[in-house]
Amino acid sequence: MTNEMMMQRDIEVVWHPCTQMKDHESIPIIPIRSAKGVYLYDFEGNKYIDAVSSWWVNIFGHANEYINQKIKEQIDTLEHVILAGFTHEPVIELSHKLRELTQLDKAFYADNGSSAIEVALKMSFHYHLNKKEQRKLFLSLENSYHGETLGALSVGDVALYKETYGALLIESIQTPAPKDQSIEAAKKALETLDLILNKHHKEISAMILEPLVQGAGGMKMYHPHYLKGARELTSQYGVHLIADEIMTGFGRTGSMFACEQAGILPDFMTLSKGLTGGYLPLSVVMTTNDVYNAFYCDYNEYRAFLHSHSYTGNPLGCVAALATLDIFENEDTIKTNKLKSLFMIRQLERFKKLENVKEVRITGMIAAIELREYNPKERVGVKIFQLALKRGVLLRPLGNVVYIMPPYIITEQELCKVFDAAYESITML
Ligand SMILES: *Cc1c(COP(=O)(O)O)cnc(C)c1O
Repeated sequence: MTNEMMMQRDIEVVWHPCTQMKDHESIPIIPIRSAKGVYLYDFEGNKYIDAVSSWWVNIFGHANEYINQKIKEQIDTLEHVILAGFTHEPVIELSHKLRELTQLDKAFYADNGSSAIEVALKMSFHYHLNKKEQRKLFLSLENSYHGETLGALSVGDVALYKETYGALLIESIQTPAPKDQSIEAAKKALETLDLILNKHHKEISAMILEPLVQGAGGMKMYHPHYLKGARELTSQYGVHLIADEIMTGFGRTGSMFACEQAGILPDFMTLSKGLTGGYLPLSVVMTTNDVYNAFYCDYNEYRAFLHSHSYTGNPLGCVAALATLDIFENEDTIKTNKLKSLFMIRQLERFKKLENVKEVRITGMIAAIELREYNPKERVGVKIFQLALKRGVLLRPLGNVVYIMPPYIITEQELCKVFDAAYESITML
């Protein structure tokens, strides 16, 4: 099989995510036969460094031997079982581990990030209802992203994904995100947040945010002071805080969870993506005993959270997550990530001198290079994607923001190759 033959067979039947399929009349789809570590291999022997961690999920490399082994053991023991009325060892162990790590008391499972957001929104709304209050509004940051299902899309604020479906969405209001990583920008954004909460807190169920880094909105980054302030204000006004750590969780921002850098505890934390090391779809909403107890009563009082997904708490996903957490412990990943992040800071220096670069940013293992404004019709992101691919690197810019978000096992030499590819591609625009 050649790449071309695979692509033709694909195009006949597969409708790809987030894609105008007609693009593939001119842009080839790359069929991947296998992957190992940071490398993806196609059907013609080409290899590509996966510098976007396969959409931000992979953290310890592809075909990681330790995670593979744990999944292989589990698959011969128990592949799946209903989680209502039944339980299993991986889900119990994982929940205890997550309680320890997040300091939140209870774990409710789903099978992808967006579903976890739906769970958190519904739980927050239902909590207030159980306390005899109907609060129909959600508050989120401008430019935020929380997934694509209708509830998640409603609280997001990226027009490209949201606008088309406006008529279908639930009500939400947006408050400005800090405009840069300075503490002053954080303080300024908190002033507006205070005003909005003051006016609307009785109608607002929860505030939801991506802590420290707004991912799909273009890798916008802000100071932990904003998180701290948002927690103080939401507590003061009696509004829940949902920390969407689906992208930022599991070491991506330099700490296990981004919330730690502000020393805050949210009412809900949503986790997915890196949770299983990038192996299997699994997500979880961590929450407090206060929330849990608002649902806890005799059945006939009808306050239970009657929400479910078929693959809730899948055992294979749970062992992949447990294996991932083992690696964090055994290899002191957070510490080695800090060194890699410093290396990435040095790599970013040379981009500042390019005339078409507006700003460079970094938080932990996420580096972003924002180009000057281009006409969206020029599709510079697609150009960079193609130029980098020729250099053996998978980059997938968000509009005019080129970002590098590699698996943590990437070496300095491989990082150099990634930054070189980004640099050369940007200079060739
Ligand atoms: C990716 C992402 C989601 C959605 O997760 P899916 O698994 O793609 O549905 C939600 N929130 C944030 C911050 C994300 O980055």
